[in-house]
Amino acid sequence: MTDQKITTHHGGCHCGAVTWSIEAPSAIHTHTCNCSICDIQHYQHLIVPKSRFTLLTGEEDLSLYTYGSGLAQHYFCKHCGVKSFYVPRSNPDGVSVHARCIDPATLSAIDDEPFDGRNWEKNAASLAHLSRDD
Ligand SMILES: [Zn+2]
Repeated sequence: MTDQKITTHHGGCHCGAVTWSIEAPSAIHTHTCNCSICDIQHYQHLIVPKSRFTLLTGEEDLSLYTYGSGLAQHYFCKHCGVKSFYVPRSNPDGVSVHARCIDPATLSAIDDEPFDGRNWEKNAASLAHLSRDD
């Protein structure tokens, strides 16, 4: 039932300054996290290996926000404020794109699962495989 065909998805921020593409199945598996920052943004993660993410435009339009451990790199568009992708602490070798920022034209299905980021230390390891190249 799950469509594993690898597709090029396009996405970006709201104003259009930041655009990117990713290689991922057309049916994606996402995580909605309840940690302090994801919860207020209702961030819906699609984590991919860095090699499957390409920033197309907007490198100079990004601002970086860090807090706490400083390990997660929260990039957001300095014009519209949208965080369309970032480098998560759980996956420093990967990129998490916000599934709501993907152009839905290429998506066949979205299967979302809650992720308990409030208990990050206990759960983060379960995400590590998502950014590995296979
Ligand atoms: Zn923008």
